[in-house]
Amino acid sequence: FQSGNRVYRIVVLGQGGVGKSALTLQFVSHIFQEDHDPTIEDAYQKQVVIDNHPGILDVLDTAGQDEFTAMREQYMRGGEGFILIYSITEKRSYDELYRFKEMIDRVRNYESVPIVIAGNKSDLGQRRQVSTREGEAMAKEFNCPFFETSAALRHNVEEVFFEIVRCIRSKENED
Ligand code: GDP
Ligand code: MG
Repeated sequence: FQSGNRVYRIVVLGQGGVGKSALTLQFVSHIFQEDHDPTIEDAYQKQVVIDNHPGILDVLDTAGQDEFTAMREQYMRGGEGFILIYSITEKRSYDELYRFKEMIDRVRNYESVPIVIAGNKSDLGQRRQVSTREGEAMAKEFNCPFFETSAALRHNVEEVFFEIVRCIRSKENED
């Protein structure tokens, strides 16, 4: 039984500026980086114990994805779970998630793929453009969990990453 070596390949997607890097770095390194280079795409590994089962999260923090490139298609093929992020302060970033979802579905031939939605920057409530109900409505459409998160305050950060692993595990147990 080698579940401790199980690597979970997770891909973080969303419009530029929503906090993909901030959320990833907060999860992996417990820091809030305010000026992460928006063009840097990098993968991070973190050992975790979730529901008493160990595993290694391999998190790809994507960047610069305004085109449907071959590289993007490749990580959409390889990802076992996707964290789709919008910012509650930018409606457009919410709308964009429908495009990302469509891209995943197309690349994966419309088979079900584990997804978690994060409405980030929940600490900026005074600039809110997306209601919690809209986030919940999207999650219902995508049939996936939803959290409002704050990378700045480390609110619901672990929850999002743990939940995607739970989704991957439960899909695995179905297959
Ligand atoms: P990315 O392009 O999606 O990787 O976005 P970044 O992680 O680089 O974040 C873009 C900007 O939003 C940076 O200035 C971050 O400091 C800021 N940011 C990210 N997450 C949060 C958050 O939860 N709260 C606040 N207030 N700012 C955030
Ligand atoms: Mg980034």
